[in-house]
Amino acid sequence: MDTFDNFQLKKTLNNAVAELGFEKPTPIQSAAFSVILSGKDILGVAQTGTGKTLAYLLPILDEMTFSKQLTPRVLIMVPTRELVLQVVEEIERLTAYISVRTVAVYGGVNANPQRAALGEGSDIVVATPGRLYDLILDQSVSLKGIKKLVIDEVDVMLDLGFLPQLNNLMELMPERRQNIMFSATMTEPVSELIDSFFVVPEKISIAVSGTPLENIRQTCYHVENFYTKVNLLRHLLEDRDTFQKVLVFTSHKRSADRLFNTLEEELGNEMCIIHSNKSQNYRIRSIEEFDEGKNRLLIATDIMTRGLDLDKITHVINFDTPSFPENYMHRIGRTGRAKEEGNAILFYTEKEVQLKENIEALMDYKIPEIPFPEEVKVSRDLIPEERPDEEISKNIHRNSKKETRGAGFHEKKAKNQKTNEGGSYKKKIAKKYKKAQTRGDKTYHKRQKRG
Ligand code: AMP
Repeated sequence: MDTFDNFQLKKTLNNAVAELGFEKPTPIQSAAFSVILSGKDILGVAQTGTGKTLAYLLPILDEMTFSKQLTPRVLIMVPTRELVLQVVEEIERLTAYISVRTVAVYGGVNANPQRAALGEGSDIVVATPGRLYDLILDQSVSLKGIKKLVIDEVDVMLDLGFLPQLNNLMELMPERRQNIMFSATMTEPVSELIDSFFVVPEKISIAVSGTPLENIRQTCYHVENFYTKVNLLRHLLEDRDTFQKVLVFTSHKRSADRLFNTLEEELGNEMCIIHSNKSQNYRIRSIEEFDEGKNRLLIATDIMTRGLDLDKITHVINFDTPSFPENYMHRIGRTGRAKEEGNAILFYTEKEVQLKENIEALMDYKIPEIPFPEEVKVSRDLIPEERPDEEISKNIHRNSKKETRGAGFHEKKAKNQKTNEGGSYKKKIAKKYKKAQTRGDKTYHKRQKRG
């Protein structure tokens, strides 16, 4: 059986862990322990509630030796001050019998007590990026002794626009250090950050703990394009008795807004939307109205639904197929909670076939397909991203960007490859459009017709 004894923690730490009263390590704790201890860079994909804080704290604290060094050896960065306090609290519980100096650094309060604490010397600094950077600029702390960097909730960090601060801070740390990152969802920006700062990270993915996949009825539809997806969604929603509380996921804010605007006229009074460009008040109201059943439909992006405990969702609809298969697991885990039967429906286009296959590989389960309903109209309208001329210009741009990065980048990128973004589709289109063709071309429209 998996127990904390397997970690062979030093006695002082082991005693503190025993006092927490946890029976056994969570899956992320078991998976991450030896990797972090080995000193490798690591990316943990796990949500809050999986025990991820302890997953990185245990190996770090196990290795920590007594020191009088003034500058910190471990930096833990988190996106909010609440999280700083939570992490510090966990460290304090774990270090009941170890002498470790921990300092909390976060904005919105007088900085002087934090300056004073740092001045006395620290082993671990737990910080939000903005305040930390200010305190470095006025020389209250230096990062030149950092050996381990933890960035927790990387996805939220990037969504809140902390990338410039993260870049600045990383420049101030020694290059030879261990990077430990945790993110609940994988997104393009997270992937890019990791590619630029990691040396072949070990990736550990943990599905939402306790997601009873057996409780969730999964199905999928092959759909032509965005507007046809809208038509299909409309069609499904006509069955009000079945589709009572529906959470619709899109991969981007832009796609969420486009869907909302398209449906607003007919469904405006039973639909709401949340993403990070909406004000906090708007988001809270949207969630309340959906949770109380005043709105039947909530359109959301992956990051926004984290930590939300929404009650009795009848259907999760994946309007876009997520690029990172873990996100699919997180999304569908929102339905079928606590023994209730849940339903998860995936819409995928030709371009998204590979992404669907990645999800199926992760689950080791082929999602049953429902034939596209004859009564639903297949739209010929295309959104800009679906138009081949846009595809081509995007490809040209991408290729030229890649060429400037040199061979090293390619090697690392290939090793770190996590998803196939539909490369074969793009290749096909690029080949086809070597010949000059216009969007109004007859062949093109023929190709678009459903076979
Ligand atoms: P986190 O995912 O780090 O936010 O942790 C979520 C909660 O799980 C916290 O309240 C932890 O104290 C708790 N927790 C951490 N590890 C374990 C464990 N092995 N068994 C039970 N609960 C745990």
